[in-house]
Amino acid sequence: MNYRHAYHAGNIGDVLKHIVLSLLIVYLQRKDKPFRILDTHAGIGQYDLTSKETARTGEWRQGVGKVLAADIPETVETLLKPWLDVISAQNPDGSFKAYPGSPALARALMRPVDRLTLTELHPEDFKTLAGLFQGDHQVKTIHLDGWLALGSFLPPKEKRGLAIIDPAFEVTDEFDRMARAVCKAWKKWQTGIFAVWYPLKDRKGLSRFHDALAETGIRDVLTLELNVGKSGPDTVMLGSGMTIINPPFTLAADMKEILPWLSRVLHQGPGAGWQVEQLIEE
Ligand code: SAM
Repeated sequence: MNYRHAYHAGNIGDVLKHIVLSLLIVYLQRKDKPFRILDTHAGIGQYDLTSKETARTGEWRQGVGKVLAADIPETVETLLKPWLDVISAQNPDGSFKAYPGSPALARALMRPVDRLTLTELHPEDFKTLAGLFQGDHQVKTIHLDGWLALGSFLPPKEKRGLAIIDPAFEVTDEFDRMARAVCKAWKKWQTGIFAVWYPLKDRKGLSRFHDALAETGIRDVLTLELNVGKSGPDTVMLGSGMTIINPPFTLAADMKEILPWLSRVLHQGPGAGWQVEQLIEE
């Protein structure tokens, strides 16, 4: 396992993923009943943008850095507020040093009745993650393969909630592993929200994943994409997408408000664009 998210924290992929995650959690808060979040590929939880890893790539400057420097129209600001408030709360002196990963973001948006299960496989990153949430009775950290966690921990006893699935895409068959694990987990928990993130690199792999969802009989699937375009010949990641099973009914409209603005702010070059598509109807 070579991937370390510290090199990428706050980048264009994190911006899309964490905005969507915040909207999903805010939606879950609409009912009083407790919910559980399973974050299968948790990373270290929160990131220090002054660390040598993060500083070496500076990817956050093209991502969250641009968002924080931009003028945000009121309608978009209202939707981004939960995410931006968590970032502000982590940086109380007004400077920007701390960036909440998916675990810290989810934790900050939970109520006292809600629970968070975090799995992470990298031994060192797991240690850092476990340290961050030590003594927090609402959070369980487990050193485990996230694909196994999907099979073992769903459905949650709360019955409501979401699984956020954010693999490292270090292996070539990641989409196929993802297809097998997500389809199996959905069969056990057909009412849960599943939010899957991927880089926009391997269109064939993505199609195989989407075909597997359809063949399994999964209904109500939304896809979101943000492509920032090619800034130069060495551009590695043009952007990222998310596939959401059982999305809140508000999500497509919210993202149609956010993505046109976000794609202007994060634009890097030719080919940039965004998309919100109901891939499979309810
Ligand atoms: N979700 C995090 C966030 O938004 O802050 C970032 C996660 S990062 C993209 C992917 C993480 O998955 C890495 O920390 C990596 O060590 C971990 N990982 C890789 N393979 C895994 C597996 N099979 N099970 C669990 N974690 C894994």
